[in-house]
Amino acid sequence: MDLHERLLVQVSVRDVYDAATLAGHPGSGLVFTGQAGHDAVRMVRRAGYEGPLLADRRRYAGSARVRGTARLSADWIADQVEAGATAPLTDSGYIGEGDHEALHTILEQSLQWDDAIAVLPVHARWVSGDLGTLLRTVADYGSPVALVVEDGPPYPPIPLPLLSAGVAALGAMAYGASWGAIGVREVLRHLYPEPHEARGGWRRGGARSAFVVERLEFVPVERLREGTCGCSTCHGRPLRHLAEAEELHVNTHNTKALHGLHNRLLRATHRERWWQSLTEAAANTTAPPKGEPRPHPS
Ligand SMILES: [Zn+2]
Repeated sequence: MDLHERLLVQVSVRDVYDAATLAGHPGSGLVFTGQAGHDAVRMVRRAGYEGPLLADRRRYAGSARVRGTARLSADWIADQVEAGATAPLTDSGYIGEGDHEALHTILEQSLQWDDAIAVLPVHARWVSGDLGTLLRTVADYGSPVALVVEDGPPYPPIPLPLLSAGVAALGAMAYGASWGAIGVREVLRHLYPEPHEARGGWRRGGARSAFVVERLEFVPVERLREGTCGCSTCHGRPLRHLAEAEELHVNTHNTKALHGLHNRLLRATHRERWWQSLTEAAANTTAPPKGEPRPHPS
């Protein structure tokens, strides 16, 4: 079992009992977030879950995040392997704008483990302005990587796996990324810049947002408008019914709708062209009121 062509669902450790509901379909998998992530991996594995499982320690996020020059933990790698993770993720710190030292330090340290995936949590400038440098550096080291892109201006699809992302993870797969992970809730779809400015309309954590396929974005449930959904959770009901639904129900719709898109991606004969037409159609959808903030095409 490996990650190839998988679209994973990034969840919190508290979602452990809903794992099979959120990621039970073929082609899926799970990323558990936080420093107990490997414990969740072990639990889900013991419960018989057969899809790929990862653990993202996420030391790179929040106000106490560490810089990418921090030493990577061998214990964290060993814990994941022992728990049955598909591949261990490094517990990388944050790579700020122009922080080449942090980028090189993470990639250099990752080489000590044969199959570890180097997590690269980057300032938005790395993908909007220095993408060539980033791609060359990653290629030079040759380790598998997973990118976490901090909120910032729009950037073109990147041919590298995205972790803790929005629908951009699927766009990356259309452009050659081997796999990707989309967060089950808003805080797991973003890396917020620090210090984080609380802005009007920004809601973190528990807010429920529903994925709207035609718009290629997550929309807060109370702002859902017309349209129906044929997924096996919605059964053709108007999308608006999600405004009254439990979070798990909304998130199950989300993973099923994304699974449907993922299947279409895998069947597309020309994936880049397919993604372009999809994003163009989404841009032409008259979309006010605005959905979840879109710091990058998500
Ligand atoms: Zn649905």
